[in-house]
Amino acid sequence: MGRHIGPVCRLCRREGLKLFLKGSRCDTPKCPIDRERGVPGMHQFRRGKASEYSFRLREKQKVKRYYGVFERQFRKYFEMAARRPGNTGDALMALLERRLDNVVTRLAFATSRPQARQMITHGHVTVNGKKLDIPSYLVKPGDQIAVKDRDHSKKMVALNIEGHSMPPVPDWLDRTGDEPAAGRVSRLPASQDISLPVQPQLIVELLSR
Ligand code: SF4
Repeated sequence: MGRHIGPVCRLCRREGLKLFLKGSRCDTPKCPIDRERGVPGMHQFRRGKASEYSFRLREKQKVKRYYGVFERQFRKYFEMAARRPGNTGDALMALLERRLDNVVTRLAFATSRPQARQMITHGHVTVNGKKLDIPSYLVKPGDQIAVKDRDHSKKMVALNIEGHSMPPVPDWLDRTGDEPAAGRVSRLPASQDISLPVQPQLIVELLSR
């Protein structure tokens, strides 16, 4: 299981998009994207016209960075999506959206996906009443996601929920409790539930070559 350990704001600057990798800091004026700092690196102004390939590549990188997955794992998601009936791009995004670290963030238990990932690996999260420490676990309808019933876990999540303004919980999830915080997967996510502004079809075109 890998994770990016370098400076994360550079990733957002490279994509020219807020990827919300730093939790509460992302909503402050300190965010470099809001301060209109451009592409990182000393050669940023020498880049020429973007090719079709680079346009598709950037779409893929945005998705990988937003959900915190590396290339090999991303390819596996793509292969799974390609085997499913219907639109492969939508299936790919739905698979990523179902990751447990994303669900914990969407339920506002964590302020960012990296924080959610750490909470899960440190055993603060349960699925259907049992501790689950795999951030890539794909939730399914009916799954009950909850914070472990112990003071340390409850306090940390209560701080996240009360102390930060998070986007509303999406329609495919329900918040079912606050003490300890809990939620339920009511249905599988659909394309309209994906908030990341990308064109999944371009990723499919890139990976199908
Ligand atoms: Fe950094 Fe967050 Fe802004 Fe991205 S959105 S540039 S991670 S502060």
